[in-house]
Amino acid sequence: MSDVLNINKLTKVYTRRHGDTVAALSDVSVNVQAGKFKVVHGPSGSGKSTLLLAAGGLLHPESGTVAVDGQDIYALSSEKRAGFRARNIGYVFQQFHLIPYLSVLDNVLAPSLAFTNGQVLRRAEELVDFFGLSGRSDHPPSELSTGERQRVALARALLHKPKLLLADEPTGNLDETNAANVINYLRQFAADGGAVLVVTHDSKIDADEKYHIEEGFLVNNSGSPVSGNKNEK
Ligand code: ADP
Ligand code: MG
Repeated sequence: MSDVLNINKLTKVYTRRHGDTVAALSDVSVNVQAGKFKVVHGPSGSGKSTLLLAAGGLLHPESGTVAVDGQDIYALSSEKRAGFRARNIGYVFQQFHLIPYLSVLDNVLAPSLAFTNGQVLRRAEELVDFFGLSGRSDHPPSELSTGERQRVALARALLHKPKLLLADEPTGNLDETNAANVINYLRQFAADGGAVLVVTHDSKIDADEKYHIEEGFLVNNSGSPVSGNKNEK
């Protein structure tokens, strides 16, 4: 099966203000196919958010490639990449990044506020309904529980029916019930044919495939390093 997400030999080095460097990702390779739910877990500071940002087209790697649906996303201009991301990638940020002065419905619509039409509005309303937020539709994020905010962030990520869904610590701020609900939503998205990559410090999340990241190096379940992709061209 072809990869929806193909991350190949990704390297990212940050330079801190006083000049020293941090190798946040070292030669990291991961694939996610349609219908798959994959998880990368690791401790704080191991490179999880860096990996997800790079996978989502939000952080240019030093070397290596990220292909989404066969498109090398960093080969695109930043403008083209932004459009490609909007159409193909749903991203759930760790801190949700909801817009404080917009209602729940408008937050869900935020990716297309500039060009909303009836169809997009109906899709947003369906998502608000699906995530059990109908009673909160007109409320600003400040009036929501953390679990509700997480669901708004998920609904927003799904507005444009992305092929790929990326989620950074999606259960990090939630109690057990809300966490289980969110994982079920992500699993359902994969069951419906999407591709999901989650990064988390929670080692309990079950997945089709699990990886561990430590100091920027990825290993699979068996503890062996994950080297270049088998289907590398
Ligand atoms: P995680 O999400 O697993 O907690 P991150 O990907 O956020 O880890 O960070 C990996 C490493 O890179 C850490 O050592 C972190 O301090 C460092 N780092 C992350 N972002 C930056 C940045 N913008 N500038 C410098 N160092 C950073
Ligand atoms: Mg992080």
